[in-house]
Amino acid sequence: AEMRNARTRRTKTVCTYCAVGCSFEVWTRDRHILKIEPTHGPANGISTCIKGKFAWGHINSSDRLTSPLLRDGDTFREISWEEALDVIEAKFKQVKQDHGPDALAFIASSKCTNEESFLMQKLARAVIGTNNIDNCARYCQNPATMGLQRTVGYGGDSGSIADIERAGLVLIVGANPAENHPVLCTRIKRSHKHRGQRLIVADLRKHEMAERADIFFRPNPSTDAVWMNGVARYILDHKLHKPEFIDQWVNNFDEYARSLEPYTLEYTEQITGVPAATLITVANEIAAADGTCILFAMGVTQHCGGSDTATSLSNLLLLTGNYMRPGAGAYPLRGHNNVQGASDLGSMPNVFSGYQKVDDPDVRARFEADWGVTLPTTTGKDNHQMIDAILEGTLKVLYIKGEDTITSDSNANYVASALAKLEFFIVQDINFSETCRYADLVLPAAASLEKDGTFTSTERRIQRIYKALEPLGESKPDWEIIQLIANRMGGNWNYKHPSEIMAEVARLTPLFAGVSYERLEGFNSLQWPVHADGTDSPLLFVEKFPFPDGKARFYPVEYIPPSEETSAIFDLHLNNGRLLEHFEQGSMTFRTAGIKEITPNGFVEVSPELATERGITSGRYVQIASPHGKVRVQVLVSDRVQGKQLYMSLNSVEEPVNKLTSSYTDRYTHTPAFKETAVSMTVLPEQ
Ligand code: SF4
Repeated sequence: AEMRNARTRRTKTVCTYCAVGCSFEVWTRDRHILKIEPTHGPANGISTCIKGKFAWGHINSSDRLTSPLLRDGDTFREISWEEALDVIEAKFKQVKQDHGPDALAFIASSKCTNEESFLMQKLARAVIGTNNIDNCARYCQNPATMGLQRTVGYGGDSGSIADIERAGLVLIVGANPAENHPVLCTRIKRSHKHRGQRLIVADLRKHEMAERADIFFRPNPSTDAVWMNGVARYILDHKLHKPEFIDQWVNNFDEYARSLEPYTLEYTEQITGVPAATLITVANEIAAADGTCILFAMGVTQHCGGSDTATSLSNLLLLTGNYMRPGAGAYPLRGHNNVQGASDLGSMPNVFSGYQKVDDPDVRARFEADWGVTLPTTTGKDNHQMIDAILEGTLKVLYIKGEDTITSDSNANYVASALAKLEFFIVQDINFSETCRYADLVLPAAASLEKDGTFTSTERRIQRIYKALEPLGESKPDWEIIQLIANRMGGNWNYKHPSEIMAEVARLTPLFAGVSYERLEGFNSLQWPVHADGTDSPLLFVEKFPFPDGKARFYPVEYIPPSEETSAIFDLHLNNGRLLEHFEQGSMTFRTAGIKEITPNGFVEVSPELATERGITSGRYVQIASPHGKVRVQVLVSDRVQGKQLYMSLNSVEEPVNKLTSSYTDRYTHTPAFKETAVSMTVLPEQ
């Protein structure tokens, strides 16, 4: 027993399943995960959800990649790291020489650490010489960031998760936090039930928080910006806004007020389908509340008007004085564990770390001096543009780490046709994903429990993860792999530990100026901006907004109709989202036996009235088809959806919902309009 206890280790880490950022100790013996013990988490206290507590079986899955794999015809063969690096060096150099650095592109991962995101963009920019670098925030959060940067300057949660409990009113729009951000959501459930906090939910689907809400309403698909503008106009017309706050803190009021003129109650009801009486109640609730927090997610962002809806939401908060205080403000609920950090650290085509623009000569000069290179001057391609460039023949090489693009990006068949055309394609992951099938070279990465680093949660909280296990087989931490590749390409890097990477980040990034591993020791954490003296920012806007005059600004927006509307053939609207038990497309959770047993596959929710019309019951298989593809999926009849609206879980082992989604995007950020899909449903013969 003594020997057994001596082999038992307790290691602090942060959950890898969502951006709430729950931290805990993981108990391990050899490679066995004995238990997860949350004790001091700044975001979660002693709580976790089912994923954080139980979904770690993937660490020892037989699907783990344990050595580099090189394509050999239709199969792959194991090779050594030296051989893999030889292949990469030869291919990168040949394509760069023949076609220039912009013929190569890089996709970082929102699951990997901050340090790894920083190195991936440094590899692209400083070593290869291209700004073709992006991450999967492109698929979800960029419109939220755009809307907030336009109006209040920073794209991040206005306050801390704990502050949400202090709000008089929580308004949840296009988000399902009970399943996607469970531990954060527990705070709202508690405040609503025991402290009289008001709760309003706007969503197509009656999910758990909609069931609990004081007011739940269902706007027509893609019309959130309209009801927000309509509510804003009502507030203005009835002098329920906060003129003192606006005078002191917000520019551009007159133009904003003029832009709201078309949004009468009558027009708003006509477009959104929300009764005027409900709009008036919502306006009065916001105006009367002692602090309003608006929580939002993909139901807002994944539309062709996603950026404008996020902007409209922030305008409404400014109009009602709901910034610069705890228990008020915008909370874009980030999805992946480090989707905030991947963008913060510069894995984007237009900015270095801390959102410093690549086309700003002063910024570039600082990075050039520190890195000793000449950097590219123009914005690179984002994920969406990369796919088009591959098909056009101008992009030849793609290096993706920690992302299953073929199931995550919209219009999977179109994406597959592009990936098949690449001259050289590297996929780096912990498991052999669907995307690996298209790769020329597959690199085995270490899982989060097998490395050191930091993640940044939705509340801008930077936290340490510590290595609990040795990397499986020949797998390596992503930062080590990137460094090996950089050095083959002449990078001359010599990082011995991620703490040295973070020191470089702090040196070059005002937003992270005071971040260091000493200050992040154990359960300590910091919320950005972090000043050089180490003081951090639980509340994002205190003495000013980050614009030259310190003031926020109203940014008028208009209604943008959806990119794809229902028709005689494609007569149903398809919405999609995650399940509590699964993470994204399920690459990790479907490889965890207990989780898979509870929820073995995805499904499509069909309303009772549509099920009756089509003569189907739960369990029946149907074919869902769109102009872009088709899937076979099992039906769950549910009154969570209504009429001709379907809801499909995006977690699926066989048939990703993205075979159905289109290539239409948000017009400013190119985030796909995942939530604007028109489909048909055909009942399949009973088996
Ligand atoms: Fe992990 Fe999110 Fe669950 Fe917390 S709420 S345990 S971070 S999945």
